[in-house]
This record gives sequence, structure tokens and C-alpha cells, in this order.
Amino acid sequence: MMRRLFYTDHQVLPLPPEHRFPITKYRILRELLERDGYFSFEPGPPADVKTIELVHEREYVEAFMNGTLSAAAMRKIGFPWSEGLVKRTLASVGSTLAATREALATGWGGTLAGGTHHAFAAEGSGYCVFNDIAVAARWVQAGSEIKRVAAVDLDVHQGDGTAHIFRDDPSVLTLSVHCKANFPLRKQQSRLDAELEAGVGDKEYLSVLGKTLRSVWEFDPEIVFYQSGVDGLASDRLGRLKLTHDGLRERDRMVMRGVKELGVPFVITIGGGYSDPIELTSEAHANTFRVAREVFGE
Ligand SMILES: [Zn+2]
Repeated sequence: MMRRLFYTDHQVLPLPPEHRFPITKYRILRELLERDGYFSFEPGPPADVKTIELVHEREYVEAFMNGTLSAAAMRKIGFPWSEGLVKRTLASVGSTLAATREALATGWGGTLAGGTHHAFAAEGSGYCVFNDIAVAARWVQAGSEIKRVAAVDLDVHQGDGTAHIFRDDPSVLTLSVHCKANFPLRKQQSRLDAELEAGVGDKEYLSVLGKTLRSVWEFDPEIVFYQSGVDGLASDRLGRLKLTHDGLRERDRMVMRGVKELGVPFVITIGGGYSDPIELTSEAHANTFRVAREVFGE
């Protein structure tokens, strides 16, 4: 049996031609991994609203579903509202939930989407509507014996929504390693934040990461969610760091070897990536799943 990964590009997100969001990266990523031949692929099932409301305020969820969020709230999200956006968003959260189920059953699971870490309980932001990792974390806590959760966020932007959602919750350790000069301007406080200056390369990055991860392992989480954003790549339009594909592979190995040693379920979400050309981003995302196979086996 090949390991299943969940995807969302069966739901088409309609964007105006001038929109800067690199929506093609999801399909390119799926095709790269399909060509490898090591995984099977399933469309992410839509998350149900009740599960989303484990984290998000009902009024916000309903207004988004019905298309009645204010123009200002939609501008903050950064996508025009459409039925397609609703379906895609539900598939994205649903993919993370499906990957979490897979992780609980087999050790690890992955979605070729998710990592929408700028979403707060009552509003979206920065291309993020609902916070998939927060929803999956609460879902696991509500439905299993698992209580201690770690959310390891290595996207080059701070996981501000995730940090804020769990700010008063000692059962969820949030870690964000990000570039200080990046969006969001106003940072939240994660349990652990490592802020890097613009221009940092592989060596310094990996050294900071190694030290920071120690605190995660000491927390002794019973499940680990990974926001594996690859917008730290030197070719990224938004990232400001100077990481290479090899550096990101090493980053992924450090995280996964640590999780393997703990022996707990592990959930991969992809997060951000805005390289020019976008193929560089998709390649880096594909490498995360290749490293998972290398570290965890089939
Ligand atoms: Zn990002």
C-alpha cells in the first residue's frame, strides 16, 4: 500500500489574472510527487463547519460561508470571495484533518496544502481564511487521549494566527522561526519565537533551528504539526532569507528526526512559497515529502 497524501487542487480557486498568489504551485507539487511514484493521492474531503468552530467564531465562519464578510475583511484575506474559494478553503482544512487521521493511524500524514497560519479565530489574513493546524490540534485533543500538541512553524512569516489562538493554552506549544522584516508587521507572541534578520543563509538558519527545536522536544509533545513553508528560499519574492534547496532539506530532516525519536504522530502541511519561477517553490515542497519518506520509511 502506498502512503496517501491529500490535495486540494480539484477545487479551482478563481482568481483575477493580475492576482499575485501563485495558485499553480499546488498542482505542480502534486504532479512532481506523482512522477516520483512513491505516494498515492486523494482529494481532500471538505471539513465540516462544526469542526472549524472548535477554533473559529461562529459569526466569522457563517459570514465567510455566506459571502457576507465586509469588503475590508476580504481585502485582509487577499482573495475575492467566491463559491470556489469556500470549497477550496473547506478542502484545505479537510485535507489537514485527513492527514491528521492518517498520522494517528500510521505515524505520519501529509497534505499538499494547508499551513494557513495567519488566520485568527475571528478573522482571516494574508491568504489564510481558517487556521487548519489550530482546527486539527483542537480536533485531536477533543477526540483522543492526546493533550500535548506542538505546532512547529518554519514558514518565513510568523505564525501569528496560531500563536494568538493558543496564547493562553499551555497544552499547545507554538514555535515560529521567521524573518523579522517580513509580514505581519505586528507580531504576536508564540510560546517560542526565533526572529532572523534579512539575508540569513543555511548555516546560521540551521544553527538557530537546532537550538530552538530542543525546547520543543523537551515539551514532550504527543503529536507534532509541521508548517513547512518554503518561502525562506533565496528565490522567494516575499521571504528575504537566502536558504537553498539543500538547506531546506536539512531543515526538514532536523524536524523529522526529532519527531521520529519521540515516536509520536506527525502531520505535514505546506505553508507559503512564492519563488520566481514558482517551480522552485513546488520542488522545495516536494522535497519535504521526499525527506519524510527517507526519515520515516514507507
Ligand atoms: Zn509565508
